[in-house]
Amino acid sequence: MERPWTVTVQGVRGSMPAVSGEYLEYGGNTACTAVDCGGRLILFDAGSGLTGPWGRLQGKNRADLFIGHVHADHIIGLFGFGALHNPEMEIHLYGEARGGVSFRRQLEFFVGPPYWPIGFSDFRASVTIHEILPGQCVPLGGGLSMRVMRGNHPNQSLLYRLDGAGHSVVYTLDCEMNDSLLPQLRAFAEGADLLIWDASFTDTDLARHPGWGHSSWRQGIEMGKAAGVKMVLMTHFSNDYTDTFLHEQERQALAEAPDGIAVRFAREGMEVRL
Ligand SMILES: [Zn+2]
Ligand SMILES: [Zn+2]
Repeated sequence: MERPWTVTVQGVRGSMPAVSGEYLEYGGNTACTAVDCGGRLILFDAGSGLTGPWGRLQGKNRADLFIGHVHADHIIGLFGFGALHNPEMEIHLYGEARGGVSFRRQLEFFVGPPYWPIGFSDFRASVTIHEILPGQCVPLGGGLSMRVMRGNHPNQSLLYRLDGAGHSVVYTLDCEMNDSLLPQLRAFAEGADLLIWDASFTDTDLARHPGWGHSSWRQGIEMGKAAGVKMVLMTHFSNDYTDTFLHEQERQALAEAPDGIAVRFAREGMEVRL
């Protein structure tokens, strides 16, 4: 029998954490999403949300953490990720080499002196660093697999598709659409249960930020429809967007969502059951 998956939103912001009373409803932590695959824990990105109160690590002794790219908003949570200090934990980190620098070197450079007092050699968990490539399908055991696709983002990004046990989650932060990418992404996301989408900007703000490597919620709805996904979850919001502003965007997006596709705006602590 298929076991249900639970997706937990742990961080919803791009670029920088957003800290003030105007961000309490949607949340202010940077990108992190957890997928509990009926026992196995898969994490997408290590933004500050990785250290928040929503973590589903309790009772787990293994976490597989896929990092889309190493811009700071996607890895700052590694500084405070308590599981790295737990000798009972097995942690697998996945990402790509960039500019001739191995993924391991990128992480070790950032997480350690002088940027942080301790580094990988101090962690008591069993940590394995895996270097992956776009086009690859990474077997995760237990019938789970992760497909990897190239995203369009400054310094490049990886997009992910997790499949297994009759469920599928596609994760497409941070990525700017273009004519060659659209059909590739449509095929990549085809028929997924859940598409987790880079909704950094409104269409108006997107037009003001060409080349920043992001998308809009309206593009997410269009992609969801084209790829036949069941639900689109908007996240990675600009930290200029307050609760009041996002409420209005959410209202518009829900009004535009075509029949057959659920559209949700991520809030920290939100759970989606698949
Ligand atoms: Zn980002
Ligand atoms: Zn980025």
